Amino acid sequence: MCIRDSLTVGLGVSVHTLACHALAGYGTKEQQREHLPAMLGGRLLGAYCLCSDAASLRTRATRDGDTWTLEGTKAWITHGGVADFYTVLARTGGEGAHGITAFLVPGDAPGLTAAAPERKMGMKGSPTAQLHFDGVQVPDARRLGEEGQGFAIALSALDSGRLGIAACAIGVAQAALDEALTFVAERRQFGRPLADFQGLRFMIADMATQIEAGRSLYLAAARLRDAGKPFAKQAAMAKLFCTDVGMRVTTDAVQLMGGYGYTADFPAERYMREAKVLQIVEGTNQIQRMVVARHVAGPESR
Ligand SMILES: Cc1cc2nc3c(=O)[nH]c(=O)nc-3n(C[C@H](O)[C@H](O)[C@H](O)COP(=O)(O)OP(=O)(O)OC[C@H]3O[C@@H](n4cnc5c(N)ncnc54)[C@H](O)[C@@H]3O)c2cc1C
Repeated sequence: MCIRDSLTVGLGVSVHTLACHALAGYGTKEQQREHLPAMLGGRLLGAYCLCSDAASLRTRATRDGDTWTLEGTKAWITHGGVADFYTVLARTGGEGAHGITAFLVPGDAPGLTAAAPERKMGMKGSPTAQLHFDGVQVPDARRLGEEGQGFAIALSALDSGRLGIAACAIGVAQAALDEALTFVAERRQFGRPLADFQGLRFMIADMATQIEAGRSLYLAAARLRDAGKPFAKQAAMAKLFCTDVGMRVTTDAVQLMGGYGYTADFPAERYMREAKVLQIVEGTNQIQRMVVARHVAGPESR
């Protein structure tokens, strides 16, 4: 099995990387020296705690001297309850985008508890849980970036994270196509391998073309990022396009395999259930369209 066969692993790496982003990009040298080697060396597993409408998040951090106290609930946290550290965005000021600050919270902090994992349609090896912060104390030395800089940190993390999600989507699409190709080469109907039928060959051509286009799109966005150029628009486009490709291609893979594709004896149905989540996480595809439209058509009038 390679990583494309298990979206649970792919998404886990993507979320962990997202959780490391704030420290790697905005932490002090001292914070990076203390925490980053274990985080990037794979000894610690991270989780990332934002919320869907980031500018209006409600988990609050209150400062008393050198200590912050966190109160609130974060829903839908991948690795919730099993992570070694949580990158948490909390409100430290007034309403809106400017009152948010990022913190690095240890997984075993007193007052931090997780609810039972959500019962999801797929990604069952990836726990997703609600987290409760009940008077969780965090020293100021674990604040990441400046007070009020959290929203900018979150957005920059999401730009990069979207590339990871796009890559995951193309990976699961490729795994589904590979599975379907093996199947249609072996199964015979009407005296011929399924792979001979033009109706199916056209589907296969479309699936392969979408995968290739998606891969090119996220790699182009990643190259902009590597070159230090703006890439937020391209990252949103890549997340949107690649995850829609992931859903279409995995659905078509089930179709190519007929009744067998619909059974758990083959992984195609799992790929299809897993691909769905990628259209939802790290900004739904409706949100990606809003981001792209703002870049292309400018901000809305109100
Ligand atoms: C398996 C899983 C793992 C997750 N892991 C994490 C994690 O690790 N960390 C984390 O912080 N979050 C995580 N999430 C949360 C995820 O990012 C949110 O579920 C996602 O952002 C959507 O938010 P929501 O569920 O509140 O849906 P809602 O915001 O309620 O959206 C419902 C529907 O309305 C649409 N919609 C909402 N607003 C608009 C608008 N302005 N215009 C048009 N359409 C709109 C959405 O696109 C969607 O179709 C995870 C979610 C899942 C399912």
